[in-house]
Amino acid sequence: VFKPLASDFFGYENLLSEPEKAALVALRAYLESDVRPIANGCWDRAEFPMQIVKPLAALGAYSFGWEETRPFENSAVFRGFVALEMARVDASVATFVGVQNGLAAGTISVCGSAEQRAEWLPRIASGEVIGAFGLTEPLSGSDAAQGLTTTATRDGDSWTLNGAKRWIGNATFSDITIIWAKDTADNQVKGFLVSRGTPGFTTTKIEGKISLRAVQNADIVLENVVVPERMRLQNANSFKDTARVLRLTRAEVSWAAVGNAIGAYDAAVAYAKSREQFGKPIGGHQLVQDLLVKSLGNITASLGMVVRVSQLLDEGTQRDEHSALTKAYTTSRMRETVAWCRELFGGNGVTLEYNVARHFADAEAIYSYEGTQEMNTLIVGRTITGQAAFV
Ligand code: FAD
Repeated sequence: VFKPLASDFFGYENLLSEPEKAALVALRAYLESDVRPIANGCWDRAEFPMQIVKPLAALGAYSFGWEETRPFENSAVFRGFVALEMARVDASVATFVGVQNGLAAGTISVCGSAEQRAEWLPRIASGEVIGAFGLTEPLSGSDAAQGLTTTATRDGDSWTLNGAKRWIGNATFSDITIIWAKDTADNQVKGFLVSRGTPGFTTTKIEGKISLRAVQNADIVLENVVVPERMRLQNANSFKDTARVLRLTRAEVSWAAVGNAIGAYDAAVAYAKSREQFGKPIGGHQLVQDLLVKSLGNITASLGMVVRVSQLLDEGTQRDEHSALTKAYTTSRMRETVAWCRELFGGNGVTLEYNVARHFADAEAIYSYEGTQEMNTLIVGRTITGQAAFV
């Protein structure tokens, strides 16, 4: 039975259709029973729980968005709530799915030929194939378009890739990794599907993260990696096509940011009602109520924004600056919110056990990936003023 979240104060979930609500109920039940109990342990050990890959596939996590695989017609608002629901429980799991479904399947859907979509999307949807998305490099992150130095050189029916990538999520175990590289003939950025085991392709796990610790991020080296032409994404002809993917995924990351904030807020509400100081629950003190109300205000405003940006996608009018503003705004509000919620726990807020510290720490990576706050601000600033201020 569908029960709206108390933290969805204005009832945005009422926008969902009955099949969408039913799918969300099933996902929520699985996350509570199988993911929540292991989330802190996986985070602490920096391990990804591989056992959840197939059950999440069965729940539709990698298939809802794509015509080739969706189990029923659904809205972008629904797919946003799916991301929110996952991040509410564990932002590492939401990030894994964001890479598998948003960045990997999304790129193939947006930039692949009909044959490539038919070949890969069903295999990603079933969890048989795990994907990764390699754009960032050791020396280029925000400057991914101009600063990208990985090269692709065509020789007849194949391409040779050389370069390095950094931070690539899922890439320590992915079956295919999308590598963005500059064509040495026309200097345009193109996308290639590189299979694990291809000679010259190596991945090394990045250790010691303080955020999204269960996500496996990799440094990648590409040394004379040969990829056949049929593994080049046929509709990725320049960085403009990469940006089409990022527009979609930035909106989805914004939903995950709201989910991560809600995870911290829900824990804080429960704690405010149970922890007593000065002879009553701390939730009865005015300053504690202030932290909760400011948090709920941030969450409610952010929900309004992500709902609308997803409706724009369904209406066919979503632009890059829409998702850039949404990403910059919602992740900033999330960062404030998780800090207020952590504060409400006093000392207990710095241990994993109380289920707020993980949300607090995970906010940092969400704030910086898929375009930092500054980059998304500059995208919107360019729209407002007509002047690009990147360089
Ligand atoms: P830099 O670009 O070096 O920026 C450093 C600082 O300078 C930032 O504050 C930035 O905003 C600021 N800055 C830079 N230029 C300007 C300017 N012109 N004006 C004002 N400020 C500026 N990438 C992938 O390709 N695939 C992935 O799967 C992936 N997963 C990730 C997972 C995690 C956990 C993390 C942390 C990162 C991941 N990334 C991934 C990389 C991520 O997208 C980059 O970290 C991000 O784009 C920022 O790039 P950077 O780290 O190189 O920072």
